[in-house]
Amino acid sequence: MIWTTLGFFALTALMIWFHLRGSGAPARPSASVARPTFPCPRCGAKVTVNSTFCPSCGVPQSAFEVVSALEVTGPEVVGGVPKAAVRADMCVGCGTCVASCPEEGALVMRGKLAVVIDALCKGHGECVRGCPVSAISVTTGAAVNRVRVPLIDANFETNVPGLYIVGELGGRGLIKNAINEGKMASEHVYKALEGTEAPTSSEPFVDVAIVGSGPAGLSAGLEAMRRHLSVVVIEQGSLSDTVRKYPRHKLLLAEPVAVPLYGDLWIADASKESLLQVWETIVANTGLPVRTGERVTAVTREGAFLRVETSLGSQLARKVVLALGRRGTPRKLGVPGEEMDKVFYDIVEMEAFAGKHVLIVGGGDSAIESVLGLVNQPDTTVTLSYRGKAWDRVKERNREKLQKVIDAGKVTSLLESSVREIRADVAVIEVDGETTILPNDFVVIRIGGDAPFAMLERLGVRIVEKELPTGAKAG
Ligand SMILES: Cc1cc2nc3c(=O)[nH]c(=O)nc-3n(C[C@H](O)[C@H](O)[C@H](O)COP(=O)(O)OP(=O)(O)OC[C@H]3O[C@@H](n4cnc5c(N)ncnc54)[C@H](O)[C@@H]3O)c2cc1C
Repeated sequence: MIWTTLGFFALTALMIWFHLRGSGAPARPSASVARPTFPCPRCGAKVTVNSTFCPSCGVPQSAFEVVSALEVTGPEVVGGVPKAAVRADMCVGCGTCVASCPEEGALVMRGKLAVVIDALCKGHGECVRGCPVSAISVTTGAAVNRVRVPLIDANFETNVPGLYIVGELGGRGLIKNAINEGKMASEHVYKALEGTEAPTSSEPFVDVAIVGSGPAGLSAGLEAMRRHLSVVVIEQGSLSDTVRKYPRHKLLLAEPVAVPLYGDLWIADASKESLLQVWETIVANTGLPVRTGERVTAVTREGAFLRVETSLGSQLARKVVLALGRRGTPRKLGVPGEEMDKVFYDIVEMEAFAGKHVLIVGGGDSAIESVLGLVNQPDTTVTLSYRGKAWDRVKERNREKLQKVIDAGKVTSLLESSVREIRADVAVIEVDGETTILPNDFVVIRIGGDAPFAMLERLGVRIVEKELPTGAKAG
């Protein structure tokens, strides 16, 4: 036994010696191969290709995937048949794309991930519009996607000096990205103001005004506060309105993310309620000034300041961070009850409406597309209310599909009707001068609104087309 063990060790030692010595070739002095590097777009330090973080400033390099993508101006190179592509690291598994896809079976859920079946995908792009986290794009088989994004630099500053854009509005979705970008923008605001003399004005002003109180805006506000800048956050709805309006309760935070003045944000039960509660507590504890119910309509240059025009007046600021998200400002009906949680201006998850009484309001393509998605939900009662006489503002394809579902009795169409009031369990509608009361769980109002890019263009921000590798995405 002893000899067997000794023999085994001797053999192993011999093998290790041969391995270390090489295959018999004469030993060469070892030359260390220099791995290629590139300058960090933010601080200029050398970053090794494929590194996740900058070794100097610590910023995740993914933060610059849109910023550093090439701007394109020429016609799109068509490389083949258009197909949807789902970005696996962005997909939150909500299934909205599956519900919005007009091709049966072209998009399927595999576990928590949406998967495109190439042979069935016709590249309609409904899934791109439906995806709440911008994880899908349509590509033509070429190695790149074309995306329309506001032009920003590595500090998230636009071509309008002193005006920054962060979060989903800049082209990248997800809560963690929004938090990181908000923080980085305020860091830069601080550096830009550091050591400069504050301009004088007879009117009160702040160092930085932040527009939008989603994850990007709140993080920007907290970082500004942490750096002792005077700050105000202006929000058209209520605190973190986009997250508040998720139709479902679950959300996904893939990893903890550092929030200024708070620490690592980690939502244990992954519910939107707990995230909202965390935000509310942080705002209360830090005293971050958030003005809700005030909509920003314009930002104009005024000497050393930017003037933020709002629905309630205006605010003078040295710098402005726009964290508007992508949902824009939906037009409202202006009827009693519209402020209730059961009222939506967008549908992002069809299955949340399964088995419910849903009233859709509107006569354009977005209203019709919402109807067409909802009729496929099991046991959903769908009523469509429009004040016009006919569905004459919609695409031919949508009109035909709508007629089919109306004829099949899957939708009740109420032309020349108007919603008068929304109550907890009913909707009051006037049709032909008669008041009708419908059982109702949800109201979806799709009557247009102000898209965020339209506002940016009014502010003088350049919107450009960029090409991203097909594996990447932008909103
Ligand atoms: C249904 C759904 C599910 C999602 N699930 C997840 C998930 O599980 N995990 C994840 O990481 N991400 C998820 N996302 C995406 C995530 O919510 C967004 O990426 C994130 O909220 C973007 O943050 P933001 O601050 O850039 O914009 P938003 O959160 O959209 O905030 C923008 C804010 O600006 C306000 N605003 C807009 N215009 C004006 C104006 N003119 N004046 C004043 N205020 C204005 C809005 O009211 C809003 O409060 C989901 C999104 C949806 C819709």
